[in-house]
Amino acid sequence: MGSTHTSTAIPAPADWRELFSDWDSIRQGYPYVDEDEAVRDCVRRLGAAEPDLVPFWTLGLLMLAPQVAFGGPGPGVEDEFVAALRPLAHRDDDGSCTHGWHPYDIDVDELLEQLPEILEALTSPPPLDGLLPRELVPERCLEEGADGESEPVSLSAPDLLARWQCPRTAPGFARAALDYVFATVD
Ligand SMILES: [Zn+2]
Repeated sequence: MGSTHTSTAIPAPADWRELFSDWDSIRQGYPYVDEDEAVRDCVRRLGAAEPDLVPFWTLGLLMLAPQVAFGGPGPGVEDEFVAALRPLAHRDDDGSCTHGWHPYDIDVDELLEQLPEILEALTSPPPLDGLLPRELVPERCLEEGADGESEPVSLSAPDLLARWQCPRTAPGFARAALDYVFATVD
């Protein structure tokens, strides 16, 4: 234990389910753990993360963004949250991908509702060829004309996996988390 599954689509620490359960309890307003400590812990772990775990800890802070925005965080917590995400939000110089759509384009609240289940798929051991699109994005993204964004509707599960693994995805989620707490990227 303690090792990471580097061969999964999104590498995650071995205890990711417990972490997500704690973060989700905070998001839902019935916290199992101290809210401020959970944010600070995630900030620390993002700061110390190996590159392959940066997407996971970024998703953790996105999960905690509603708490930071509306949960009355303690003194300094929001500043730490913002300071942890800003450098990552700027790290989007791999902007040469040809993807028109990325998972960070999903409405945050909608994504967070299903993120634990989506991570089950993203952290499955390979081969991942049995995955279905609806395991990788919220159902509504796959409905024609839901938001005028037709691209996710036409993407296969391997295409969606590629978007989750795109180097622009973690910076995009960092921007989404900053936006959620009404912080600027700069
Ligand atoms: Zn991309």
